[in-house]
Amino acid sequence: MSRFYITTSIPYANSIPHIGFAMEAIQTDCLARYHRMIGDDTYFLTGTDEHGMKIADTAKEKGKTEQEHVDEIVALNKDLKKILNLSYDDFIRTTSDRHKRGAQKLWKKLAEAGDIYKDRYDGFYCSGCEAYVTEKDLVNGNCPIHKRPVHTFSEENYFFRLSKYSDKIQELIESDTLKIVPEFRKREFLNVVRDGLTDVSFSRPKDALTWGIPVPDDSSQTMYVWCDALSNYITALDYENNGELFQKYWPADVHVIGKDITRFHAGIWIGMLISAGLEIPGNIYVHGFITSGGHKMSKSLDNVVSPMDVAKKYGTDALRYYLLREIPTTGDGDFTYERFEELYNGELANNIGNLVNRVLAMTDRYFEGKIPQINERDEGLILRVEKFWEIYHTQMNDFNLKKAIEEIMFRADDANQYIEENKPWALAKEDEKKLADVLYNLLEMLRHIGYAMYPFMPGISEKILAALSCKPLIKDVSIIEKWGVLHADDSITKCDQLFPRPD
Ligand SMILES: [Zn+2]
Repeated sequence: MSRFYITTSIPYANSIPHIGFAMEAIQTDCLARYHRMIGDDTYFLTGTDEHGMKIADTAKEKGKTEQEHVDEIVALNKDLKKILNLSYDDFIRTTSDRHKRGAQKLWKKLAEAGDIYKDRYDGFYCSGCEAYVTEKDLVNGNCPIHKRPVHTFSEENYFFRLSKYSDKIQELIESDTLKIVPEFRKREFLNVVRDGLTDVSFSRPKDALTWGIPVPDDSSQTMYVWCDALSNYITALDYENNGELFQKYWPADVHVIGKDITRFHAGIWIGMLISAGLEIPGNIYVHGFITSGGHKMSKSLDNVVSPMDVAKKYGTDALRYYLLREIPTTGDGDFTYERFEELYNGELANNIGNLVNRVLAMTDRYFEGKIPQINERDEGLILRVEKFWEIYHTQMNDFNLKKAIEEIMFRADDANQYIEENKPWALAKEDEKKLADVLYNLLEMLRHIGYAMYPFMPGISEKILAALSCKPLIKDVSIIEKWGVLHADDSITKCDQLFPRPD
C-alpha cells in the first residue's frame, strides 16, 4: 500500500466560495477518493488563506474585526464539505496557531540557510491586486488589471533569495522530478525559469501589512503571502513539531492548483522547500478557469454561478459530473444551465439512470430479485471491461479526469447496447439460460460502473453498489476490477430514481 498526500490550494477568505474553487476541490476530492478506493493510505488537505490587507480593508468596511470577517467566510467554505461531498481529512486555517508557528519555523529555516536578507524595496503596489507590480507591467502608470494608478513606495523588506535556486528548480522540472501537468503549463513555466527567477519580497513593514504573521525576531515586519500561505501544505501536517503526519505524508504527491498560481507553486514554493532542506512534491496539477455563458463571471454582468445553487437544484453528484465531465480537466471551460440540463437529462438520467433502473427491474421481474447463475462467460465483454480498467487507471494517474469519466459513460453505452442486442424480454420467452447469462453480465457491468464512478459521483456510486450489496471502500481492492464477483442467489435491492427531474 502506498501513501498519497494531495492538497487543494487555499482560497482567499475574502468572499463567498466561487465555482472555480468548487471545481478544484472536486477534482482533488475525485483523486483522493480514487486513491482511497485502490487502497492507498490517502491524506487530503484543504483550507483557507486568511491574512492580507484586502481582508483587513473588507473587515473595516463591514465594521467587523478581521477575525470575525474571516470566520464568516471560512464557515461558508466549510459548508462546501457537505454541499460538494468532499472527503478531506483536514482543513487548515492560516489564522490558526498551529499554522502560525509552523510558518515561523519555516521562515527561520530559510534564514538559517542564509536565504533571507533585508533590503530596500522601491516599487509599485496595486491595492486591488494586493501585489507588487513591476514597472514593465504598468499601462500608462496604471495597474493592467484594475486600470487605476498604483502606489509608489520605498520601504525596507525582507527578501527571499529565490535566484539562488533557479537552476536547481529548472533541473527538477525538466527531469520531471517535479512533474507539472499538463505539459503546456510545464513548458510555459520553464520559459520563465530559463530567464532566471529573481529574489522575492518576503515581508512588509507592519504598518503597511497589519493583518498577518509577524516575522520571527523582528515584529516590525509582517510575512508577505508566500511564507504565510504556501507553508500551509506542511504546517497542517505538524511540521512545527516534525510530527507523525509530517513524517508520514510529506512530500505531497499532488498539489492541485489554478493556472494563475503556477509560478508561485513551481517557483517560490519549491525554492523555499529546497532552502529549508525539505523534500519537494511529486506533481503539480494545474486546472483552468470557468466562464459563464462564454464570459468571465462578474457581479456587473450578473452571471456569477454559485456552486451552492446548482447543487441545491440538481444534486451534488450532478454538479460534480458537470465540473468533471464538461470542463476540460486542465483547460478552460464554460458553464451554462442549458448545457447542464442537456447533460443531466441525456447522459445522467437517460443513460446511467435508465440503465440502472432497467437492469434492477429485470432482475426483479425474471429472477425474483436474485442474481442469476451464469452458464457461459462472454469473453468479448470481459475483455472490454478489462481494457476499460486499464485505460481508466492511466487517465486517473495522468490527471485526465474528463477522459476517465467519458470511459465510464462508454461502459454505460455498451451496457445499454447489450440490452438492445440481447433483448432479455424476448429471451424470457424462449431461452432461460441465455437470459440468466445476460442479466448476470448486466449486473456485473453495473458493479464495474458503480466502482469506477465512485471518485466522480460518490453518492450515485454508493446507491448502485448498495443495490448489489457492495461497498465502495473494501479491504481487498483486487475485487473491484475482477470479472464475475457477484454471487448467484444473492439478493439485489431496487434503488430510488438516481436522477429525478429537478423541481
Ligand atoms: Zn491591480
